[in-house]
Amino acid sequence: SKPFSLKELTLLVDKLAEKKKVIRRLKEEMESLHSSIQKKERDLKRVVHDLKNPLLSMGASAKRMLRRNRNGEELRILRNIYNSSVRLTGWIEDTLFSDHSSQQIKEEVKEVEIQSMVQQAIDLLKDASREKNIEIQFETSPSIPLVYCQEQLLFRAVENLLSIALRYTPGGGRIDVTVSYIEWKNGGVVEISIRDTGIGILEDDIDRIFEPFYRGRNALTEMGAGLGLSFVKEVVDLHRGRILVQSEAQKGSTFS
Ligand code: ADP
Repeated sequence: SKPFSLKELTLLVDKLAEKKKVIRRLKEEMESLHSSIQKKERDLKRVVHDLKNPLLSMGASAKRMLRRNRNGEELRILRNIYNSSVRLTGWIEDTLFSDHSSQQIKEEVKEVEIQSMVQQAIDLLKDASREKNIEIQFETSPSIPLVYCQEQLLFRAVENLLSIALRYTPGGGRIDVTVSYIEWKNGGVVEISIRDTGIGILEDDIDRIFEPFYRGRNALTEMGAGLGLSFVKEVVDLHRGRILVQSEAQKGSTFS
């Protein structure tokens, strides 16, 4: 083959320098998004911490009142207050402290085998899905390239999507998870898709569900803070990915 001419070489070097610049800029953007997520998580922790004590004391008061003799109706209401406060405190500890702890947020970007990551997340939810009698099916093709990402964050995002699907799918339903590779102009796209047969999302809500603290009108019977999807979206944005949702009320939803 013909050796490069000086002009071609100069062009190549210029191109490489340009690429290097782009990579540096991406890195800087990632870092700044990183610190903004960290700040939000710290703020959230503070709020949660402040909620916990009044809740505990409400529960304790309800319990004290329950010990005295009460008529049927009062008993029912007090029990309701007590049970709700116990549930809420437990939920605060579980959901916010474990899911959104900022301990793991600083991590290296590395090449990850997405299929096994998704499988691990599914395995984690096996007991919960069995208890609700919901089948989780996983399908993937063998030729998925490794993905350059922050593994722990992406793992938590997938885990969040799965557990959200589980929450909004009535017993007896199913969840289909797929990982696929879509060829694209320059490079390609790895798509993770999670389809449930749940209650679906109302059309007017769809544009807002990724906002922090937003809860859909379909979700009133489920307990939640409206933070799961906003976390997922932040992780997807951090990786310069896209998150799509398709949904039909009473039929189900697909997040990919
Ligand atoms: P939360 O579930 O705590 O309300 P999320 O951030 O997980 O908060 O979801 C935001 C809203 O999006 C929910 O309140 C619900 O209305 C809707 N939603 C999300 N995922 C689903 C789903 N798989 N099926 C039905 N509705 C969903």
